Amino acid sequence: MSSLARAFGGRIVTIFVGVDRVKFTIHENLISESSPFFKAAFRGEFGERNGVLELPDDDPDAFELFVGWLYGKAQSKSYTIADGPIDWDIEAMTFLNLYILSKKYFNEDLSNNAIDLAYEYFDYFSDLDRKDQLEYLRHVVDNTLPGDSMRSLLVFVISVDLFQEHSEEFKRDSLSKIKAAVETSPQCVAMLLPQILSFDWDYRNGMDRPHCKSKCFYHQHETTTPCDDDD
Ligand SMILES: [Zn+2]
Repeated sequence: MSSLARAFGGRIVTIFVGVDRVKFTIHENLISESSPFFKAAFRGEFGERNGVLELPDDDPDAFELFVGWLYGKAQSKSYTIADGPIDWDIEAMTFLNLYILSKKYFNEDLSNNAIDLAYEYFDYFSDLDRKDQLEYLRHVVDNTLPGDSMRSLLVFVISVDLFQEHSEEFKRDSLSKIKAAVETSPQCVAMLLPQILSFDWDYRNGMDRPHCKSKCFYHQHETTTPCDDDD
């Protein structure tokens, strides 16, 4: 049987996501083979024999991206979320929640996809409100393990954005936000400081934006094929 026939064979399962219980119906083979979590949930000894699963802690918008990715991937192995219809005006938090979801369900390919989305998002929208950026970092820190790649990416992006612009007013504003965050997000500030100090700042003239590492620097490739160098 072809992998496509296999993915679309078998039963359809129902998953309710988030506190509002947004309903998704998905081919069981497709979702079970994407993650040991779903395999155990639908096929394991304690599995959801009736084919219904509740995921109250997940973000329905992120889950929708995940489901679209599963179906795209079933038809083309090289499919990425950016190949599909994607609304870049959506909250960056959705991409971060997609990443958190991918880590929770142990799908490395999806984690790398979510890294790419966040990388492109923050590259494009570099003048996001700084308060929100610290909020993003805090959310990721609360939901990932130390040493996590998305933490590193956000720490880089936020550190650069805090100081990249040249006006004195902007620098004063940035510093006051850091000072406020010492109270509200001490763990985030502790993560930002080593990054900020590692840059070769010229405080008189400001600086150009330091070059971000390649996307693949933030990927993991334990079970997935490493990217080409130019990715
Ligand atoms: Zn890579």
